[in-house]
Amino acid sequence: MSKYWSEAIRSLTPYVPGEQPKGSNIIKLNTNENPFPPSPMVLEAIHQFDTDRLRLYPDPDSSALKQSLADHFHVKTDQVFVGNGSDEVLAHTFMAFFRHPEPLLMPDISYSFYDVYANLYGIDVRHIPLQDDFCIALDDYSEANGGIIFANPNAPTGRALTLDQINALLQRNTESVVVVDEAYVDFGAETAIKLVEQYSNLLVVQTLSKSRSLAGMRVGFAIGSAELIDGLERVKNSFNSYPLDMLAQVTATAAIKDVAYFTQTTQQIIKTREWTNEQLLALGFKIIPSKTNFVFASHRYIEAAELMGFLRTHQILVRHFSRPGIDNHLRITIGTEEEMHAMINCLKRHPDIIS
Ligand code: PMP
Repeated sequence: MSKYWSEAIRSLTPYVPGEQPKGSNIIKLNTNENPFPPSPMVLEAIHQFDTDRLRLYPDPDSSALKQSLADHFHVKTDQVFVGNGSDEVLAHTFMAFFRHPEPLLMPDISYSFYDVYANLYGIDVRHIPLQDDFCIALDDYSEANGGIIFANPNAPTGRALTLDQINALLQRNTESVVVVDEAYVDFGAETAIKLVEQYSNLLVVQTLSKSRSLAGMRVGFAIGSAELIDGLERVKNSFNSYPLDMLAQVTATAAIKDVAYFTQTTQQIIKTREWTNEQLLALGFKIIPSKTNFVFASHRYIEAAELMGFLRTHQILVRHFSRPGIDNHLRITIGTEEEMHAMINCLKRHPDIIS
């Protein structure tokens, strides 16, 4: 705590992301990155990139990227917003739509950044408990005048709502903004982008960090009505009119265009996830059905913190959350087949695991 800090920042709780270790020989299954390299078209775009252009400012509107996203999702370019990772898109969303006299509704267990932003911007939040099966309790989200945000699939639980369920929620909430954070949607869930024409209050946020292997480039985007996108552009232009650097724009555009590679790599991750689930079940874990690139699991007898520590001593990083309700769970990112074999084989060597 510093005497120079204003009252406003003293109460802030920073978001603590998973560890980013520097060493090699580590199997990194702790921050839901993609184990595959970016598309070969991304590599090609980097090779073709004229570095002389770096002395100029980038396109403030990321026009080529917005065009490729609009083409890919069959919307107009004025329905697309891009930012430095979906974290920045979400930050602008909180500023643009959720500063309201009524509380913002969100699940009590969800992406912990939402609370950080609400705290930062002084937004009142009502946390809605998840059901016992970790599903979002849809019926509790009615007449949310201050807005709604949730991740679908949810994080870190991995459970997804269907498009019909999201549609039902939108039918009951037409007066305030509903944000669906689809960071993990490409690993088996249904996108709500199909509903943006129908609901002008729906904003869908996605990222290129997971299914498109571009976490290092920091690119996220939102799709919604032109009205909502205009609101986000206003916030963006008050902070930083150049959110994406040139290389981020070029590589993200290439990644969106390579649908074949995206399909092949996401399918492979889903296959490896299902294999990992079976193995974990056989080792005495309880698994929550996941539609993401991670599994959320708890062991019947062994504490999650103990298992995380054990894996760590064997250079395998997974994530453990200390929040009540999920504190005995591990979140394990799906890596390559080889990495998941190594993780399972390591667990089999734990003295209390019977395989
Ligand atoms: N939403 C959710 C649910 C996430 O888990 C993450 C990744 N930590 C993000 C958004 C942010 O991703 P990025 O900023 O890399 O786009």
